[in-house]
Amino acid sequence: MDNIRYDELGPRKVIGLYSKRAGFRAIVVIDNTALGPAVGGVRVAETVTMDEVLRLARTMTLKCSIAGLPHGGGKAGIVADPRDPQKELYFRVFAKQIKDLAEYIPGPDMGSDEECMAWLRDEIGRSTGLPAEIGGLPLDKLGATGFGLSICARVACKFTGLPLDGAKVAIQGYGGVGRATAKFLSQEGAVIVAVSDSKGFVHNPKGLDPRELEDVKDTSGSVTGYKKGAISKKPDGVFAVECDILVPAATADVITPKNVDSIKARIILQGANIPATLEAEALLHERGILSVPDFIANAGGVIMAAMEYARRTKKEAFDAIEDKITMNTELVLERSRAENALPRAVAEMVARERVLKAMKYQGY
Ligand code: NAD
Repeated sequence: MDNIRYDELGPRKVIGLYSKRAGFRAIVVIDNTALGPAVGGVRVAETVTMDEVLRLARTMTLKCSIAGLPHGGGKAGIVADPRDPQKELYFRVFAKQIKDLAEYIPGPDMGSDEECMAWLRDEIGRSTGLPAEIGGLPLDKLGATGFGLSICARVACKFTGLPLDGAKVAIQGYGGVGRATAKFLSQEGAVIVAVSDSKGFVHNPKGLDPRELEDVKDTSGSVTGYKKGAISKKPDGVFAVECDILVPAATADVITPKNVDSIKARIILQGANIPATLEAEALLHERGILSVPDFIANAGGVIMAAMEYARRTKKEAFDAIEDKITMNTELVLERSRAENALPRAVAEMVARERVLKAMKYQGY
């Protein structure tokens, strides 16, 4: 516990779970609950660490706060292979272990999906991102986060004077978020020029067809099976592609001082959580590259999750994503320009203020 960084927001609880029978370890972090019960995804990966879960839980606190949701931030990490055939067993055991932790409402994240959320709901009566058949608004199928990123792109483009229609886009990661981002951005007239996954990337300056890409990914397992473009087996090469908008939509800490200078985009929309290190964000700002922080740009998923939890309709959820992401992106970019401050610093200040006020009312 010595290496946990505490501050005025949290974390409130850090819990380690273990099951010999299911053969897994898990970590749950409840960062802050001043605004309401904590929401946050369950990440399943053999490499997930306590530090990662702590940082992701904080991102959720800030994301819920700035989006004006009645929720705090939390996160869970199950240290296991997401393709393990025993997945249902360990999810059900995990559910039993968090049953009494009523201030944490689990949701989907990398390595978990709507089926996992259905197992959790079945066991403990609470989770978000459920299948439609049991009243859910499946975030990934509906593309909530990708839709939010396309709304964020509209505002960021207007702000920088770059027409979104015809803008060239490169996307790192082609999972739930990456696919939906490609779809919604092409509907806005943007041209998807490069897409990567863990096996490599495909690039065509004239544009890739998002529908064909989806088929290729589904049938061959990787975007590198796409025939109408140049293929590279080095996934990280996607960051250096000539483009206007770059969307990191895979893992954390992929934009670092080491590759910042190779980036050619004018706008970065942080689809993934914490995709850039703080040093890299400062360097991007110095270079005049607008980087919209994760908890503004990728809030579509949690907004839809909160709407599902409040039993609202799909249309109400999409309207809420559009309204909240437009408003917050405008607020942060305008203040950041006026104060010549990093967009993340401005966004964090606004989000923190709201949480701190709520904490004061509750006598924390
Ligand atoms: P996912 O598991 O569906 O997809 C991840 C994709 O990234 C896969 O295509 C994988 O091949 C690819 N990938 C992994 N390592 C890579 C690498 N080194 N280079 C290129 N690609 C790589 O996950 P997701 O749900 O799309 O989430 C992606 C990111 O977005 C995560 O950081 C997650 O926390 C964040 N996020 C997701 C949501 C959501 O609604 N799903 C909401 C907010 C934030």
